[in-house]
Amino acid sequence: MEKYQLLDEVGAGGFGRVWKAVNKHSSEVVAVKMLREKFHSWEECLSLEEVKSLRILRHPNILSLKEVIRERDDSLFFVFEFMESDLLQVMRSRAEPFSDSEVRYWCFQVFQGLHYMHGKGYFHRDLKPENLLVSGGLIKIGDMGSAKEINSNQLLTDCVTTRWYRAPEVVLGLENYSFKVDMWAMGAIMAELFMFKPLFPGRNLFDQMLKICSVLGSPTPESWLGGLALAGGLNYQFPQLPGVNLSSMMPSASWNAIGLIKSLCSWDPNKRPSASEALTHPFFHTCYNIIPPSLCVRARVNNTTTREEFEQIRSCNRNRI
Ligand code: ADP
Ligand code: MG
Repeated sequence: MEKYQLLDEVGAGGFGRVWKAVNKHSSEVVAVKMLREKFHSWEECLSLEEVKSLRILRHPNILSLKEVIRERDDSLFFVFEFMESDLLQVMRSRAEPFSDSEVRYWCFQVFQGLHYMHGKGYFHRDLKPENLLVSGGLIKIGDMGSAKEINSNQLLTDCVTTRWYRAPEVVLGLENYSFKVDMWAMGAIMAELFMFKPLFPGRNLFDQMLKICSVLGSPTPESWLGGLALAGGLNYQFPQLPGVNLSSMMPSASWNAIGLIKSLCSWDPNKRPSASEALTHPFFHTCYNIIPPSLCVRARVNNTTTREEFEQIRSCNRNRI
Protein backbone atom coordinates (compact mmCIF):
# COMPACT_ATOMS: atom_id res chain seq x y z
CA MET A 1 0.00 0.00 0.00
CA GLU A 2 3.07 2.31 0.20
CA LYS A 3 2.46 3.54 -3.30
CA TYR A 4 -0.94 4.99 -2.34
CA GLN A 5 -1.56 8.01 -0.16
CA LEU A 6 -4.95 7.84 1.52
CA LEU A 7 -6.83 11.15 1.33
CA ASP A 8 -10.44 11.17 2.62
CA GLU A 9 -12.71 8.38 3.78
CA VAL A 10 -15.54 8.33 1.23
CA GLY A 11 -17.67 5.46 2.41
CA ALA A 12 -18.17 2.56 4.73
CA GLY A 13 -20.34 -0.49 4.40
CA GLY A 14 -20.80 -3.94 5.82
CA PHE A 15 -17.54 -5.29 4.42
CA GLY A 16 -15.12 -2.44 4.67
CA ARG A 17 -14.15 1.20 4.57
CA VAL A 18 -13.42 3.10 1.38
CA TRP A 19 -10.92 5.95 0.91
CA LYS A 20 -10.15 8.32 -1.87
CA ALA A 21 -6.43 7.84 -2.50
CA VAL A 22 -3.74 8.90 -4.89
CA ASN A 23 -1.06 6.78 -6.53
CA LYS A 24 2.19 8.53 -5.47
CA HIS A 25 3.98 7.57 -8.71
CA SER A 26 1.32 8.20 -11.37
CA SER A 27 -0.83 10.76 -9.46
CA GLU A 28 -3.87 8.71 -10.46
CA VAL A 29 -6.80 9.17 -8.09
CA VAL A 30 -8.33 5.86 -7.01
CA ALA A 31 -10.68 4.42 -4.40
CA VAL A 32 -9.18 1.98 -1.91
CA LYS A 33 -11.48 -0.41 -0.09
CA MET A 34 -10.03 -2.04 3.00
CA LEU A 35 -11.86 -5.18 4.00
CA ARG A 36 -12.70 -5.67 7.67
CA GLU A 37 -11.84 -9.37 7.50
CA LYS A 38 -8.24 -10.64 7.54
CA PHE A 39 -7.05 -13.02 4.81
CA HIS A 40 -4.36 -15.52 5.59
CA SER A 41 -3.56 -16.69 2.04
CA TRP A 42 -3.82 -15.55 -1.55
CA GLU A 43 -6.10 -18.50 -2.33
CA GLU A 44 -8.54 -17.17 0.22
CA CYS A 45 -8.44 -13.71 -1.43
CA LEU A 46 -8.86 -15.07 -4.92
CA SER A 47 -11.85 -17.15 -3.88
CA LEU A 48 -13.79 -14.01 -2.87
CA GLU A 49 -16.77 -13.47 -5.19
CA GLU A 50 -15.89 -9.78 -5.51
CA VAL A 51 -12.45 -10.70 -6.85
CA LYS A 52 -13.60 -13.66 -8.95
CA SER A 53 -16.34 -11.68 -10.65
CA LEU A 54 -14.39 -8.46 -11.15
CA ARG A 55 -11.47 -10.30 -12.76
CA ILE A 56 -13.92 -11.29 -15.50
CA LEU A 57 -16.30 -8.35 -15.75
CA ARG A 58 -15.13 -5.40 -17.83
CA HIS A 59 -17.87 -2.99 -18.83
CA PRO A 60 -18.31 0.81 -18.80
CA ASN A 61 -21.20 0.42 -16.35
CA ILE A 62 -19.43 -1.89 -13.91
CA LEU A 63 -16.88 -0.48 -11.48
CA SER A 64 -13.46 -1.73 -12.49
CA LEU A 65 -11.04 -3.30 -10.07
CA LYS A 66 -7.45 -2.18 -10.71
CA GLU A 67 -5.51 -4.09 -8.11
CA VAL A 68 -5.78 -6.34 -5.07
CA ILE A 69 -3.17 -5.83 -2.33
CA ARG A 70 -2.57 -8.09 0.67
CA GLU A 71 -0.37 -6.61 3.36
CA ARG A 72 1.93 -8.50 5.72
CA ASP A 73 -0.63 -8.20 8.52
CA ASP A 74 -3.11 -10.10 6.28
CA SER A 75 -5.30 -7.07 5.63
CA LEU A 76 -6.76 -6.90 2.14
CA PHE A 77 -7.22 -3.82 -0.05
CA PHE A 78 -9.08 -3.47 -3.33
CA VAL A 79 -8.04 -0.59 -5.57
CA PHE A 80 -10.88 0.67 -7.79
CA GLU A 81 -11.33 3.50 -10.23
CA PHE A 82 -12.52 6.52 -8.23
CA MET A 83 -16.13 7.70 -8.56
CA GLU A 84 -17.37 11.06 -7.30
CA SER A 85 -20.50 9.87 -5.56
CA ASP A 86 -23.15 7.19 -5.32
CA LEU A 87 -26.80 7.40 -6.29
CA LEU A 88 -27.99 7.67 -2.68
CA GLN A 89 -25.71 10.67 -2.08
CA VAL A 90 -26.86 12.23 -5.35
CA MET A 91 -30.48 11.87 -4.23
CA ARG A 92 -29.69 13.33 -0.81
CA SER A 93 -27.98 16.35 -2.37
CA ARG A 94 -30.99 17.27 -4.53
CA ALA A 95 -34.23 18.92 -3.54
CA GLU A 96 -36.24 17.66 -6.52
CA PRO A 97 -36.83 14.02 -7.49
CA PHE A 98 -35.49 12.95 -10.88
CA SER A 99 -37.49 13.63 -14.02
CA ASP A 100 -38.59 10.86 -16.38
CA SER A 101 -35.65 11.51 -18.72
CA GLU A 102 -33.14 11.55 -15.86
CA VAL A 103 -34.42 8.20 -14.58
CA ARG A 104 -34.16 6.89 -18.14
CA TYR A 105 -30.61 8.20 -18.37
CA TRP A 106 -29.44 6.40 -15.19
CA CYS A 107 -31.40 3.19 -15.66
CA PHE A 108 -30.45 2.70 -19.29
CA GLN A 109 -26.82 2.53 -18.23
CA VAL A 110 -27.44 0.26 -15.24
CA PHE A 111 -29.49 -2.18 -17.32
CA GLN A 112 -26.63 -2.35 -19.83
CA GLY A 113 -24.21 -3.22 -17.05
CA LEU A 114 -26.64 -5.81 -15.71
CA HIS A 115 -27.27 -7.29 -19.15
CA TYR A 116 -23.53 -7.77 -19.53
CA MET A 117 -23.08 -9.12 -15.99
CA HIS A 118 -25.93 -11.64 -16.29
CA GLY A 119 -24.66 -12.66 -19.73
CA LYS A 120 -21.26 -13.38 -18.16
CA GLY A 121 -22.95 -15.64 -15.63
CA TYR A 122 -22.99 -13.44 -12.52
CA PHE A 123 -25.78 -11.79 -10.59
CA HIS A 124 -25.28 -8.98 -8.12
CA ARG A 125 -27.75 -9.72 -5.30
CA ASP A 126 -27.31 -6.37 -3.53
CA LEU A 127 -28.43 -3.68 -5.92
CA LYS A 128 -29.39 -0.48 -4.10
CA PRO A 129 -28.72 3.23 -4.63
CA GLU A 130 -25.55 3.31 -2.52
CA ASN A 131 -24.02 0.51 -4.60
CA LEU A 132 -24.53 2.45 -7.84
CA LEU A 133 -21.57 4.80 -8.24
CA VAL A 134 -21.80 8.03 -10.16
CA SER A 135 -19.14 10.22 -11.79
CA GLY A 136 -19.51 12.86 -14.48
CA GLY A 137 -22.78 11.51 -15.86
CA LEU A 138 -21.63 7.89 -15.83
CA ILE A 139 -23.16 5.33 -13.48
CA LYS A 140 -21.48 2.06 -12.58
CA ILE A 141 -22.56 -0.97 -10.65
CA GLY A 142 -20.27 -1.32 -7.62
CA ASP A 143 -19.93 -3.53 -4.56
CA MET A 144 -19.80 -7.00 -6.05
CA GLY A 145 -19.28 -8.38 -2.53
CA SER A 146 -22.55 -10.32 -2.67
CA ALA A 147 -22.31 -11.45 -6.31
CA LYS A 148 -22.79 -15.10 -7.18
CA GLU A 149 -22.39 -17.23 -10.26
CA ILE A 150 -25.78 -17.85 -11.85
CA ASN A 151 -25.05 -21.49 -12.55
CA SER A 152 -23.35 -22.39 -9.30
CA ASN A 153 -25.36 -25.22 -7.83
CA GLN A 154 -25.00 -23.85 -4.31
CA LEU A 155 -28.13 -23.24 -2.30
CA LEU A 156 -28.43 -19.51 -1.77
CA THR A 157 -29.28 -19.70 1.91
CA ASP A 158 -27.61 -16.44 2.86
CA CYS A 159 -30.06 -13.56 2.67
CA VAL A 160 -27.76 -10.87 1.42
CA THR A 161 -29.85 -8.29 -0.39
CA THR A 162 -30.62 -5.23 1.68
CA ARG A 163 -34.19 -5.73 2.95
CA TRP A 164 -35.90 -2.84 1.12
CA TYR A 165 -34.70 -4.13 -2.26
CA ARG A 166 -35.19 -7.82 -1.49
CA ALA A 167 -37.42 -9.78 -3.85
CA PRO A 168 -40.45 -11.53 -2.28
CA GLU A 169 -39.14 -15.02 -3.05
CA VAL A 170 -36.01 -14.19 -1.03
CA VAL A 171 -38.12 -12.70 1.77
CA LEU A 172 -39.96 -16.05 1.86
CA GLY A 173 -36.65 -17.88 2.13
CA LEU A 174 -36.50 -19.55 -1.31
CA GLU A 175 -33.08 -21.14 -1.63
CA ASN A 176 -32.70 -21.31 -5.40
CA TYR A 177 -33.71 -17.82 -6.40
CA SER A 178 -32.42 -16.52 -9.72
CA PHE A 179 -30.82 -13.45 -11.31
CA LYS A 180 -34.36 -12.05 -11.41
CA VAL A 181 -33.79 -10.78 -7.85
CA ASP A 182 -31.64 -8.09 -9.49
CA MET A 183 -34.58 -7.13 -11.72
CA TRP A 184 -36.86 -6.74 -8.69
CA ALA A 185 -34.27 -4.50 -7.01
CA MET A 186 -34.09 -2.40 -10.18
CA GLY A 187 -37.87 -1.89 -10.08
CA ALA A 188 -37.64 -0.69 -6.47
CA ILE A 189 -34.67 1.57 -7.33
CA MET A 190 -36.42 3.06 -10.38
CA ALA A 191 -39.46 3.90 -8.25
CA GLU A 192 -37.21 5.46 -5.60
CA LEU A 193 -35.60 7.72 -8.20
CA PHE A 194 -39.07 9.13 -8.94
CA MET A 195 -40.23 9.35 -5.32
CA PHE A 196 -36.95 10.12 -3.52
CA LYS A 197 -38.00 7.67 -0.84
CA PRO A 198 -37.89 3.87 -0.83
CA LEU A 199 -40.82 2.02 -2.40
CA PHE A 200 -40.84 -0.85 0.15
CA PRO A 201 -39.22 0.44 3.38
CA GLY A 202 -39.85 -2.62 5.57
CA ARG A 203 -38.67 -2.47 9.20
CA ASN A 204 -38.30 -6.24 9.45
CA LEU A 205 -39.09 -9.25 7.24
CA PHE A 206 -42.81 -9.36 8.14
CA ASP A 207 -43.15 -5.64 7.63
CA GLN A 208 -41.25 -5.99 4.34
CA MET A 209 -43.89 -8.34 2.95
CA LEU A 210 -46.62 -6.07 4.33
CA LYS A 211 -45.11 -3.09 2.52
CA ILE A 212 -44.87 -5.06 -0.75
CA CYS A 213 -48.50 -6.25 -0.46
CA SER A 214 -49.73 -2.76 0.41
CA VAL A 215 -48.20 -1.35 -2.79
CA LEU A 216 -48.68 -4.21 -5.27
CA GLY A 217 -51.77 -5.85 -3.79
CA SER A 218 -51.51 -9.38 -2.37
CA PRO A 219 -50.43 -12.13 -4.78
CA THR A 220 -53.13 -14.20 -6.46
CA PRO A 221 -52.98 -17.59 -8.23
CA GLU A 222 -52.76 -15.59 -11.49
CA SER A 223 -49.95 -13.30 -10.37
CA TRP A 224 -47.81 -15.83 -8.41
CA LEU A 225 -48.99 -19.38 -8.03
CA GLY A 226 -45.51 -20.54 -6.96
CA GLY A 227 -45.42 -17.93 -4.20
CA LEU A 228 -48.73 -19.07 -2.76
CA ALA A 229 -47.40 -22.64 -2.67
CA LEU A 230 -44.15 -21.45 -1.08
CA ALA A 231 -46.06 -19.48 1.56
CA GLY A 232 -48.38 -22.46 2.17
CA GLY A 233 -45.36 -24.67 2.88
CA LEU A 234 -44.22 -22.14 5.50
CA ASN A 235 -47.71 -21.77 7.00
CA TYR A 236 -47.49 -18.12 6.08
CA GLN A 237 -50.49 -16.09 4.96
CA PHE A 238 -49.93 -13.01 2.85
CA PRO A 239 -51.64 -9.92 4.30
CA GLN A 240 -54.77 -9.33 2.21
CA LEU A 241 -54.43 -5.86 0.71
CA PRO A 242 -55.72 -4.33 -2.53
CA GLY A 243 -52.56 -2.40 -3.54
CA VAL A 244 -52.32 1.16 -4.81
CA ASN A 245 -52.10 2.93 -8.10
CA LEU A 246 -48.35 3.42 -8.69
CA SER A 247 -48.96 6.59 -10.73
CA SER A 248 -50.41 8.27 -7.66
CA MET A 249 -47.19 7.49 -5.75
CA MET A 250 -44.94 8.92 -8.48
CA PRO A 251 -46.85 11.54 -10.46
CA SER A 252 -43.80 12.62 -12.49
CA ALA A 253 -43.30 9.11 -13.95
CA SER A 254 -44.54 8.54 -17.48
CA TRP A 255 -46.96 5.77 -18.34
CA ASN A 256 -44.06 3.75 -19.82
CA ALA A 257 -41.94 4.21 -16.69
CA ILE A 258 -44.81 2.94 -14.52
CA GLY A 259 -45.28 -0.01 -16.89
CA LEU A 260 -41.60 -0.96 -16.59
CA ILE A 261 -41.57 -0.62 -12.78
CA LYS A 262 -44.69 -2.81 -12.58
CA SER A 263 -43.17 -5.53 -14.70
CA LEU A 264 -39.82 -5.43 -12.84
CA CYS A 265 -41.72 -5.71 -9.57
CA SER A 266 -43.80 -8.68 -10.72
CA TRP A 267 -44.49 -11.07 -7.86
CA ASP A 268 -43.53 -14.01 -10.04
CA PRO A 269 -39.79 -13.90 -10.90
CA ASN A 270 -40.55 -15.62 -14.23
CA LYS A 271 -42.73 -12.67 -15.23
CA ARG A 272 -40.00 -10.09 -14.57
CA PRO A 273 -38.12 -8.99 -17.70
CA SER A 274 -34.44 -9.79 -18.10
CA ALA A 275 -32.08 -6.81 -18.41
CA SER A 276 -32.04 -7.13 -22.20
CA GLU A 277 -35.83 -7.22 -22.27
CA ALA A 278 -35.93 -4.15 -20.03
CA LEU A 279 -33.64 -2.36 -22.50
CA THR A 280 -36.14 -2.97 -25.28
CA HIS A 281 -39.08 -1.70 -23.18
CA PRO A 282 -40.87 1.33 -24.71
CA PHE A 283 -39.57 3.43 -21.78
CA PHE A 284 -36.14 3.28 -23.43
CA HIS A 285 -37.21 3.58 -27.08
CA THR A 286 -36.05 7.19 -27.34
CA CYS A 287 -32.55 6.10 -26.29
CA TYR A 288 -32.11 4.29 -29.58
CA ASN A 289 -33.30 7.12 -31.83
CA ILE A 290 -29.97 8.37 -33.06
CA ILE A 291 -28.01 5.12 -32.80
CA PRO A 292 -27.85 3.25 -36.10
CA PRO A 293 -29.98 0.10 -35.70
CA SER A 294 -27.02 -2.10 -36.64
CA LEU A 295 -25.12 -0.75 -33.65
CA CYS A 296 -27.98 -1.50 -31.24
CA VAL A 297 -28.31 -5.01 -32.59
CA ARG A 298 -24.57 -5.64 -32.46
CA ALA A 299 -24.32 -4.33 -28.90
CA ARG A 300 -27.07 -6.66 -27.81
CA VAL A 301 -26.05 -9.72 -29.79
CA ASN A 302 -22.43 -9.56 -28.64
CA ASN A 303 -23.55 -9.07 -25.10
CA THR A 304 -20.97 -6.34 -24.74
CA THR A 305 -20.80 -2.65 -25.39
CA THR A 306 -17.45 -1.24 -26.43
CA ARG A 307 -16.28 2.10 -25.09
CA GLU A 308 -16.94 3.73 -28.49
CA GLU A 309 -20.45 2.31 -28.71
CA PHE A 310 -21.10 3.32 -25.15
CA GLU A 311 -19.98 6.90 -25.81
CA GLN A 312 -22.48 7.09 -28.66
CA ILE A 313 -25.27 5.78 -26.44
CA ARG A 314 -24.20 8.18 -23.72
CA SER A 315 -24.11 11.22 -25.95
CA CYS A 316 -27.50 10.17 -27.27
CA ASN A 317 -28.77 10.12 -23.73
CA ARG A 318 -27.16 13.40 -22.84
CA ASN A 319 -28.81 15.06 -25.83
CA ARG A 320 -32.18 13.94 -24.64
CA ILE A 321 -32.07 15.44 -21.16
P1 ADP B 1 -19.53 -2.46 1.25
O1 ADP B 1 -19.33 -3.79 0.61
O2 ADP B 1 -18.89 -2.40 2.60
O3 ADP B 1 -20.97 -1.99 1.22
P2 ADP B 1 -18.98 -0.70 -0.97
O4 ADP B 1 -18.09 -1.22 -2.04
O5 ADP B 1 -20.43 -0.66 -1.27
O6 ADP B 1 -18.67 -1.45 0.39
O7 ADP B 1 -18.51 0.77 -0.60
C1 ADP B 1 -19.14 1.52 0.45
C2 ADP B 1 -19.38 2.94 -0.04
O8 ADP B 1 -18.12 3.54 -0.39
C3 ADP B 1 -20.23 3.07 -1.29
O9 ADP B 1 -21.62 3.10 -0.99
C4 ADP B 1 -19.74 4.39 -1.87
O10 ADP B 1 -20.37 5.49 -1.25
C5 ADP B 1 -18.26 4.40 -1.51
N1 ADP B 1 -17.46 3.86 -2.64
C6 ADP B 1 -17.28 2.55 -2.96
N2 ADP B 1 -16.51 2.41 -4.04
C7 ADP B 1 -16.20 3.66 -4.44
C8 ADP B 1 -15.42 4.18 -5.54
N3 ADP B 1 -14.84 3.38 -6.42
N4 ADP B 1 -15.29 5.52 -5.64
C9 ADP B 1 -15.89 6.33 -4.73
N5 ADP B 1 -16.64 5.91 -3.70
C10 ADP B 1 -16.79 4.58 -3.54
MG1 MG C 1 -22.15 -1.45 -0.43
